[in-house]
Amino acid sequence: MSSPNDTAAAEAAKPSHFIRQAIEHDLQAGTYALRRWGGQPGDGPSHQAGMADPARIRTRFPPEPNGYLHIGHAKSIWLNFSLAAEYGGVCHLRFDDTNPEKEEQEYVDSIRDMVRWLGWDHHFADDPARPGVRQPHEYFASDYFDFMYRAAEHLIEAGHAYVDEQSAEQIRASRGDFGTPGTDSPFRHRTPAENLARFREMRDGQHPDGAMVLRAKIDMASPNINLRDPAIYRIRHATHHNTGDRWCIYPMYTFAHPIEDALEQITHSICTLEFEDQRPFYDWLLERLCEGGLLTAPPPRQYEFARLNVGHVITSKRKLRQLVEEGHVAGWDDPRMPTLAGLRRRGYTPDALRLFAERSGVTKTSNAWTDYAALDAALRETLDPVAPRAMAVLEPLKLVIENWTEVFGSPDHLEPCHAPVHPHHPELGQRQFMLGRELWIERSDYEDTPPKGFFRLFPGNKVRLKYGYVIECLGAIKDEAGRASGVSARLIKDTKSGTPGADSVKVKGVITWVAAADGLPAEVRLYDRLFTEEQPDAGGRDFLSVLNPRSLTTVQAIVEPSLAGAQPEDRYQFERHGFFVADRAEHVAGDRLVFNRVTGLKDSWGK
Ligand code: ATP
Ligand code: MG
Repeated sequence: MSSPNDTAAAEAAKPSHFIRQAIEHDLQAGTYALRRWGGQPGDGPSHQAGMADPARIRTRFPPEPNGYLHIGHAKSIWLNFSLAAEYGGVCHLRFDDTNPEKEEQEYVDSIRDMVRWLGWDHHFADDPARPGVRQPHEYFASDYFDFMYRAAEHLIEAGHAYVDEQSAEQIRASRGDFGTPGTDSPFRHRTPAENLARFREMRDGQHPDGAMVLRAKIDMASPNINLRDPAIYRIRHATHHNTGDRWCIYPMYTFAHPIEDALEQITHSICTLEFEDQRPFYDWLLERLCEGGLLTAPPPRQYEFARLNVGHVITSKRKLRQLVEEGHVAGWDDPRMPTLAGLRRRGYTPDALRLFAERSGVTKTSNAWTDYAALDAALRETLDPVAPRAMAVLEPLKLVIENWTEVFGSPDHLEPCHAPVHPHHPELGQRQFMLGRELWIERSDYEDTPPKGFFRLFPGNKVRLKYGYVIECLGAIKDEAGRASGVSARLIKDTKSGTPGADSVKVKGVITWVAAADGLPAEVRLYDRLFTEEQPDAGGRDFLSVLNPRSLTTVQAIVEPSLAGAQPEDRYQFERHGFFVADRAEHVAGDRLVFNRVTGLKDSWGK
């Protein structure tokens, strides 16, 4: 029976959090409803300045293009894009490229690829503020350098900024600390005209790097050290990837970021907790620029959430680079890397990453660690309903059916067998393969002397060849070292799966197999965690000292013929083994088969 509480219950089931609450509050209060879209740099020529902005909210994902995106970024991407989508808004992909030295095109390209891969491709083609304009919804912070410069001059003229000629060391020393207020710079009381003249000299290249900086003039005694006259512009004689040699002064991140948000009419600027102490400066700066008429109120607001930390994973860009440059992994897209490029190659899906991000929640609890097993669980849940099945033998051992000729009349006879592509999707049809006199089975499916609870092959025992016949094990063929180099068995007639007599012989074990006649060789890469410790760099430990020496095992496997046509990035469940993906870099359909293990069928993290 339905009750009046049903809707309330459904509402409550939707994970709410403080950012969502802030958005709902702003939508109800109409905080940004009257905002006019200002016609900003980077908006494209088709944009009409002064038009009301039909996007209800605007968020942004603002990576600095100085490295590859990692799993932590996936969370930020998911949060920003999905909130915008959910509330009828827009999310911007903004390259925060205000630092001239570190950024490279390679990173811009890979970031763009990954955001699209995660499923936000459509988002770039369809901005309500620019109907019909099929342009990427993509922005570069360096496009705003002119505005940032004007904003700096405005602050100077209004008495809110000054050029400080102290050395970096002197500035640091006079900033004070938690218990001690800072002391004023001797340059703090210059007139706006003097400051403006100096700042223009900085701009015109008349001073070397580090000779002076522009500082905001706020409060040297503030309990928040970030408000003790932070530097906002510095001299850097460097070539920028976008603006070339046009500038030799560059804005500091804390100054640039709020302006980027404001120019793009961002409403909710979402970042990680370490920026919480920067929020007062963010607000101070935008208020000053609104006051001065350079921006229109209301300005964007910043909201902070706890960053995602995943067990057995490191996300520091510097450390990831070290892994690549020192050759501990095969590259940025090595399937063991927590980069999105690595996770993609490993076979992880956008769906699984989204589910994982969603479940990890949006909180203000710093230092929370999410178990890697949660990511694997999300993978299994999303892959199991869709991944086609296949049989693969990862550690092959030959099995010979001794009575084959007797049963089928010829040693070369091949008996057709079939199996569903997916057990719950009959519409996907059947896979076809052959049973022959010689088969490949898993080495671990045979024991001379069975341990307790072992129901597979040992002399005298009967098992079912999955989708085939029941066989009885006759014993092992041994090599000189006494190791099983093969198994011999006899087939029991009239027990073929799917035929009326199939159940006439009861067995406790079922094994997977591939016929020697139609099996295909494949390279299979079995991945394990990259670090043996849950927090590889905890307490200042050298993370390289806890690299897992067994993070990659490569085996020569034999797989069923239905995999001949597997395309790069096709994902399968290898029966009994787990989920596998055709490697996107090295697998060549019908020629060189290479599969990566995405994850096992069960959680192995507890072991
Ligand atoms: P850096 O150490 O160079 O600052 P970063 O990881 O913060 O690296 P950015 O390119 O500045 O990289 O990040 C882009 C966005 O992704 C930022 O909004 C940042 O807050 C967010 N982000 C980065 N790491 C995580 C994480 N682990 N969890 C959630 N969000 C993250
Ligand atoms: Mg950052």
